[in-house]
Amino acid sequence: MQLYDYHVHSDISFDGRLPLAEVCRLALQAGAAGLTFTEHVEFTGPGRPNHIPDFPLYAARIEEAREAFPQLTIGMGLEIGLYPGYKSEIEEIVNGSDWDFILGSLHNVDGLGVYNEDFIRGKNKTDAYHRYFEAMYELFEAYPCFDVAGHLDMIRRNRGFADRTLRYQDYAGELDAILKLLIQRGQGLEINTAGWRFGVGGAHPDPAILRRYKELGGQLVTCGSDSHGEKVLDHIAQGYDWLLDNGFHRLTLYRQRQPYFLDISR
Ligand SMILES: [Zn+2]
Ligand SMILES: [Zn+2]
Repeated sequence: MQLYDYHVHSDISFDGRLPLAEVCRLALQAGAAGLTFTEHVEFTGPGRPNHIPDFPLYAARIEEAREAFPQLTIGMGLEIGLYPGYKSEIEEIVNGSDWDFILGSLHNVDGLGVYNEDFIRGKNKTDAYHRYFEAMYELFEAYPCFDVAGHLDMIRRNRGFADRTLRYQDYAGELDAILKLLIQRGQGLEINTAGWRFGVGGAHPDPAILRRYKELGGQLVTCGSDSHGEKVLDHIAQGYDWLLDNGFHRLTLYRQRQPYFLDISR
C-alpha cells in the first residue's frame, strides 16, 4: 500500500520541531510514498500574535528536499488557521505561491484556543461544541479558499470534558450545513490520525460525520498525521482502514491544488 501523509509540520511552522529534510528522512524510513507539508498560517484574533511562515525559506527547503529525496512525492501546502477579519491577508497568501494543497482549520474561536480549558470555561459541553461548529460554518462560508477541512471535530481534543464523545445527531443541523457547503464547493474532509494520539479513541472526525459526508455525496478525503516532529506517518495505515470501514475506497491526493485519486481497497 502506498502511504501518503497529508498533514505534516516541520520547523517552518511556529510550533514544528524538526527540519523539513529530517521529516522527509523519517517519512522515507517509515515507508512513505509521499508527504505534503501543511505549514501553519495562523490567525488568532486581535491582541494575539499571528503566525506566518517565511515563505521563500519554505520554498527553498521544499526544493532541496525534492532533490535529496527523489523517491518521495513531496507537496508544498499550508494549514490556514481561519479567523474572522483576515480575508485580504489570506487571499494574498493563497494566491502568492504555487501551493499543492491547502487545509482550512479552526484553532481559535472568540479569541481562545478551542483545545484550551479557557474556551470551555463557563460552558457546558453541548454549548461549547455548538459554538465551535457555529463558528466553523461562518468561517468556512466566509473563506472558500481551502481544499480540505482539517480535523473537523478537533474540539474533542479539549481535555476539559471527561466525556469527549461527539454524537452526530446532537449537532446534525450545524454539521449537515458544514458538510453540504464543503460538498457544494468541491472541498474535502480530512481524516486526522492525531485523534489516536490525543486520546479521542480514533481519528477525526467521528465515523458518523465521515459517513454523513459520503451519504450527502462527498468524495474527497485526505489522510494526515498532524505531525509536528517525529510522528510523520503515525497511524496513516489505520487511517486508510478507517476510510475503508466507512465506505471510502479512494484516497484523495492533490497536486497544484487539483485532486486525484489513489485506490486503497484491499
Ligand atoms: Zn490544526
Ligand atoms: Zn496541523
